[in-house]
Amino acid sequence: MIRLFYILFFAIIQAQQIPLFDGDIAFSYLKKQCDFGERYPGSQNHIDLKNYLVSFLSDKSDELIVYDHEINHPYNKNEKIILYNILARYNLDSQNRILLMAHWDTREIADKDSNKMNQAKPIIGANDGASGISILMHLSEIFSSYPFNNIGVDLLFVDGEDMGRHGDLENFSIGTKLFSKTMSKPIPKLAICLDMVADKDPEFKIEYFSYIQAEKDVLELWDLANSLGYSEFVYELSQPIYDDHRALFVETGIPSLDIIDFDYPYWHTLEDTVDKCSPYTLGIVGTLVCEYLYRKEHD
Ligand SMILES: [Zn+2]
Repeated sequence: MIRLFYILFFAIIQAQQIPLFDGDIAFSYLKKQCDFGERYPGSQNHIDLKNYLVSFLSDKSDELIVYDHEINHPYNKNEKIILYNILARYNLDSQNRILLMAHWDTREIADKDSNKMNQAKPIIGANDGASGISILMHLSEIFSSYPFNNIGVDLLFVDGEDMGRHGDLENFSIGTKLFSKTMSKPIPKLAICLDMVADKDPEFKIEYFSYIQAEKDVLELWDLANSLGYSEFVYELSQPIYDDHRALFVETGIPSLDIIDFDYPYWHTLEDTVDKCSPYTLGIVGTLVCEYLYRKEHD
């Protein structure tokens, strides 16, 4: 009887366990993406990374869907481009779903580079592109090892976020807009977008659209971050940032928030490289999301 008690006790403890997220593993995936070179839509590196991600996720998801969308290049109408949205799904039976999203494309032009000679060149996008994806990749490993039985989670590796020219919002988040039209049911109750989450000097303010679109969830996440000791999550509103979380909300009405550190001096420059990024920052963001999801799972 005592033995049975111990078995049950440890089974319960194990069931309640929240898996550890390892920032070093995520950082290795950030580097791996950058090793492909610049990954803007229409380039060979873009196709190569798509193939790598699909192969990586194929044995780490309950269902994997690859959506391809042919578009005209927004500024070079004669060029046909295929955008690929990749959706890895977990616990398909659950109606209580949360969507995590990040963009895997990188920017074709370094239009914020202080050197004019560089402004037509593509960026490597270590923080703007690879960082959010590196967290989703490591989460896919965790989710397949520690399956959900209550909540359902969808990981969206979205394409075509960063094709717009400055001020032309129409041509930002093209992949998210296309995804919104093909979205299958059940619709997630919340979407969390990760973008620019690897800065060596992190500070996560509350992004304005996130606050108006998903106030309760934003505060829940920021409270959880602070309870974990991550004082980098500050209770201060930032400027509105038009990112995938905004496009998704406008298209679908799903409460959507962004975890983004927009105060990054290398944004849209050739300097957005691996050395500006940190495993620590990936670790705190990944741990926060992991804790948040598995606490919902055990609720
Ligand atoms: Zn960008």
